[in-house]
Amino acid sequence: MAEERDYYQILGVTKTADQDAIKKAYRKLALQFHPDKNPDNKEAESKFKEAAQAYEVLGNPQKRTQYDQFGHAAFTRNGRGGGFGGGFTDVNDIFEAFGDIFSDFFGETRSGRSRNQRGSDLRYLLELDLKQVLTGIEKDIRFETEDGCETCEGSGADPKFGTETCAMCGGRGKVIQSQGFFQMASACPACRGRGQKIKKPCADCRGNGRVVNEKKIKVKVPAGVDTGVRLRVAGEGEGGYNGGGPGDLYVEIRVHDHPKFQRQSKDLFGTLKINYIQALLGSEVEVDTLTGKSKVEVPAGTQTGEQIKLEGEGVPSLKSSARGDIYFEVEVEIPKKLKKDEEEMLREIAKLRGDKVKGKKGIFS
Ligand SMILES: [Zn+2]
Ligand SMILES: [Zn+2]
Repeated sequence: MAEERDYYQILGVTKTADQDAIKKAYRKLALQFHPDKNPDNKEAESKFKEAAQAYEVLGNPQKRTQYDQFGHAAFTRNGRGGGFGGGFTDVNDIFEAFGDIFSDFFGETRSGRSRNQRGSDLRYLLELDLKQVLTGIEKDIRFETEDGCETCEGSGADPKFGTETCAMCGGRGKVIQSQGFFQMASACPACRGRGQKIKKPCADCRGNGRVVNEKKIKVKVPAGVDTGVRLRVAGEGEGGYNGGGPGDLYVEIRVHDHPKFQRQSKDLFGTLKINYIQALLGSEVEVDTLTGKSKVEVPAGTQTGEQIKLEGEGVPSLKSSARGDIYFEVEVEIPKKLKKDEEEMLREIAKLRGDKVKGKKGIFS
């Protein structure tokens, strides 16, 4: 999955561009890559969507501020386990959201779904812990999705009564409105662009032609995933319209922070507390790993801040199953209180080294 591109870069504007410039840049791209001008051109379609996505954020001052501060992360869904939302990737969703801007230069607004169209993509946030990253997991996920109503085949009309031609538009689905010199065709408000009017709404979908279903699917998450990885599950998005194919489901991964380790791609970073004797004389110390315990060797004379590497106990990556390493940053602990014997012996050592130390009664000797 490609990284998401910078929105300013997509629109070809600078970070300081004003709203007017952003709108202009977007219009230019939208016209250039518009699907009507580039039929069956997947690249143009994806450019068109990309631009719309960028404009959705940068064209809105509040969202733009969030984006400037947090980048793409500002718009990832969070928290709600099992949360989902329609990905903003369906061309017709774009038309609906940008109806105003398009009506200006296409001379019509597109509402209503009279053509056959692919269903919207969905996004599902899947949270994992670091241990699950080691092996990957298979998980059943449940989500709500919208499909065409089977009873009425998406028409919204009760099949026993059927439909009749819309009187307002004569079945064309469009009405012509005059605004000054201009004549604009817009979707017929009476039939919402369908050209047909429902005599009696379908009981199962209440005339919407769409029903919400709960879906359950098994998702296989490979080992080595990291936060931000998106897995595409083809055909598991929302159902299409008028015979159009379904959208896709994107499972977005978020890996929880680990209480002991920070992850940097394949490597993990933790801390290792040792006492001053172990630091001075060297030792073998037990450490926690992701899956249990292991041991590391602490060389004599180890200082606070030094790193000790535990090989092969990191995590794999999507590219390679070989695991990274754990790096422990050493923290040498100085006891706040000494045992009586221990203190006596240390005083002997101080004498041996000729170090001036504080005496038992606070006098330096
Ligand atoms: Zn129905
Ligand atoms: Zn009509």
